[in-house]
Formats: sequence, structure tokens, C-alpha cells
Amino acid sequence: MSAALHLQRGLRERLRRGEAHLTLVEPQAYLTYHPLLAEVAAGTIDPRHVVVPLRRELTECRVLTARITRIEHATRRAWADAAGPGEAPAPVELGYDVLVLAPGSVSRTAPVPGLAEHGRRFSTVGEAVGLRDHVLEQLDLATTTRDPALRQAALTFVFVGAGYAGVGALAELEDMARYAVRGHHNITPDDLRWVLVEATDRILAEESPELAEHTLAQLRERNVDVRLRTTLESAAGGVMALSDGSRFAARTLVWTAGVRPNPLLRDTDLPLDTTGRVRCLGSLQVLGPDGRALPGAWAAGDGAAVPDPHADGAPCAPNAQHAFAQAELLAANVLAALADGPHASGIAEYRPDTPACSTSLGLGRAVAHTRRGGRLTGRRAWWLHRARHLRRLPSGERRVRILMDWAMTGLFSREVVPLGRPERRERPEQADERPG
Ligand SMILES: Cc1cc2nc3c(=O)[nH]c(=O)nc-3n(C[C@H](O)[C@H](O)[C@H](O)COP(=O)(O)OP(=O)(O)OC[C@H]3O[C@@H](n4cnc5c(N)ncnc54)[C@H](O)[C@@H]3O)c2cc1C
Repeated sequence: MSAALHLQRGLRERLRRGEAHLTLVEPQAYLTYHPLLAEVAAGTIDPRHVVVPLRRELTECRVLTARITRIEHATRRAWADAAGPGEAPAPVELGYDVLVLAPGSVSRTAPVPGLAEHGRRFSTVGEAVGLRDHVLEQLDLATTTRDPALRQAALTFVFVGAGYAGVGALAELEDMARYAVRGHHNITPDDLRWVLVEATDRILAEESPELAEHTLAQLRERNVDVRLRTTLESAAGGVMALSDGSRFAARTLVWTAGVRPNPLLRDTDLPLDTTGRVRCLGSLQVLGPDGRALPGAWAAGDGAAVPDPHADGAPCAPNAQHAFAQAELLAANVLAALADGPHASGIAEYRPDTPACSTSLGLGRAVAHTRRGGRLTGRRAWWLHRARHLRRLPSGERRVRILMDWAMTGLFSREVVPLGRPERRERPEQADERPG
């Protein structure tokens, strides 16, 4: 969406005169701004405000709500399918001159017994709202039950995978639950048990090691049980069995164990690296077989292996900072190539700013590192984190709505009412009288 917005701006007159066409194919009718999803789970942002409707912002663009299933760049053709899950596929062929590929990544899964039955994911607005309701329902259950084992399981929350999603969701929900239990006569914050399980020896692999260390120290200070070099072996029967030998019951299991490049990339004729990302030059052009740019093919974001000059040319980490910066440069480079050809002098290399990293850890709590090497925690870090994300959000209207949400939370504190399952339908009662 971000690349399309910049291209729309640069091509506006030609789009209006019908000399150029811009088509965005995306299965959702909106962009989800993932870095603020944890605040949706915590009830500080309205769920609708972290999504940006594509058709509202991309007024000169053809938006197709469909999924690309295959791309054959050699013949400049792609196939889109609008069929829902379980429906017969109805692919539509699309021809193009220039391809911009940015399908992001998908969650990594593992064959862990019991995971399918007990695990939850955390990458969509629906999942964030569902998890929030589930956590609040566990507090209600723990207050009511007289069974000590059930109460313990209800108050135990396990997150597997300490990337952005796992750390952000755990920290925000822990903070929300700490606030919510004030209304429960028989639960204290010390009764809640939060466990973060991570297979590697560090958290937040997409961020700098310094920020990760700093965040880890903050979580441990809040009594979050962070288990590094540990994996979930089984969740069968709702009993968590970890590789360090511990076993305990938990009614909440959130699976956020990493991401992998979108499998769509394998259904293209473009070159991939060993991890499955599209191989790109620093200009964001896809690498051709001769080591030069493949004409008409561009890629950005989590699905693109773009050399990072700050990491000796290793591919950029999959994060929002790179994705948004690459989208902007990609659009400028496409416009330069349209004007002067694929080797135009106006095509620039991706040179990211020094990473500016931060993580939100609850209301008024965050850790942030400034570009000059400063380390912040608490409210100052939190405001800096919010300002960075607001600036990046590609919609002025959504920025205002989120600012209003934060102002309302400041005035009235957060909302801790579970909405229940919205899809549950009551049967209409039998009519007392016959019509007429
Ligand atoms: C819960 C969560 C929290 C995060 N927090 C942070 C954070 O705090 N800071 C940070 O820097 N990063 C964070 N990230 C990572 C960040 O969101 C990603 O790095 C960034 O969104 C990548 O951008 P992208 O455009 O490559 O992919 P995406 O934003 O994932 O966009 C890809 C789009 O392609 C669409 N798509 C997929 N398949 C197809 C197909 N076959 N056809 C058509 N369209 C398709 C998808 O629907 C999606 O809209 C977080 C991620 C998650 C899930």
C-alpha cells in the first residue's frame, strides 16, 4: 500500500488521463498496521483504527480484493483468485508491465502435539480482539471457580516465540490484566503467571541486541518468566511440556514463533535466496541471472532479500522500519526507471537510517534507543515509540483517530470489558401472535 501511495502521487496525472494503470492485489480490503496490534489487544486502540482502508487512500488505483496465486514474470502475467476458503478457485489472469512484489511473511508453524487445539495466533485484528476477550474471560473464570487447579490454569498465560508479536502481545496483555484484576475481589497481580518461551538465546531477533537485552531486563523485573533456549514440546490436554523438563497446565497458549517468507514467492519464476526471499539488488530491483537488474521486477519488505549496508550486506531484518523505507525508495526508483529506463542514473540504492528501535511494554511503559545511542525507558520511551509509529502510519485520518483513542484512555483509563464471541447468534424467540 505504501509503495502504491507513492506511485499514485508520482503518476497522478497519467493515471487520470488513462495513460497508466496502477493495480493493487490484496486479499484484505485494508492494510493492517502490525506494530500497534498489541495495543488493540490491550484495549488502548479501537480495532478499526489500526487498519487503513485501501480504497479510501488509493483513489486512483484499481484495488482487487484477491490473492495472487502465481506469477510468470517471463511473460509478464500473474493469476489472482478471489475465492474464499473452501470455495472452488476462480483464477483471473492479469497482464502487467511492471511488477512490485511485497507479500510479506507468514507465521512459522511446528508439529507440536496439542498446538492445533490449544494454540492461538497473533497477527490479525480478529486474533488480537479474540485474545483480549479470552484473557479477560480467564480472569472471570478464575474469580468464580472453586477448583484450585482450574484457577491456576486460567491464570497462566504462555507465549511461544519472543519476536515483535510475542513480546508486544505479552507485555501489553500483562499490563492490561494487572489493571483488570483491580476489579476482581479475589485475584491479585501476583496470582497471574506469564511465561515467554524462546528457542534461541535472545529475544527480539529483529532488533538490536542492546534493545533486546534492555527489554528482557524490563520483562524480568515485571516477573515475566522468560525461558531462553527452550521450546514447547507438547500442549496436549492443555498441559504445557517444555524442553527444560517443566510441565504445567495453562488455558492460554499464544503461538508467535517466528515468520517465514510468503510461500507465494515459490510460485513465481523469480530467484529466491536459501530462506525463500526474492533476491534483490540494493536498488530494490529483482536480481537477474546475469547479476544485473531483471527488467520490470521490483520487491520490498519482509519477502525481499535486500542487502543491508549496516550489516555488511546481509539481508535486511524483516521489520516495519525497513518495509516502509523500502516502499518509498522503490516507488521513486520505479518512477525514475519509467522515465529513463532500468539503468537510469536516478535509481538510488537502499541506505537505511541507523535503526531507531523501540518496544511498547504497556500503558506508559516502553524501551527505546535513540539514533545517537541514548537509552530511554518508561514514559519518555513510550511517547517516542508512539510518535515513531504514528509518523509511519500511511493515513492522516487514522493518525487522528488513534491519537483520540490514546487521549480517551488517558482520560478514562482503558476498557476491560470482554465482548464475548460476536459470531454467537441467539435464535429468535417464537412469535406470540401470528402476523396480521
Ligand atoms: C503482531 C506483529 C507485531 C509487529 N510489531 C512490529 C514492531 O513493533 N516493529 C516493527 O518494525 N515490525 C513489527 N512487525 C513486523 C512488521 O509488521 C513487518 O515487518 C512488516 O509489516 C512487513 O511489511 P511487508 O509489507 O513486507 O508485509 P506485510 O505488512 O505483511 O504486508 C504483506 C501484505 O501482502 C498481502 N498478501 C499476502 N499474500 C498475498 C498474495 N498471495 N496475494 C496478494 N497479497 C498477499 C498480505 O495480506 C499483506 O497485507 C510486527 C509484525 C506482527 C505480525
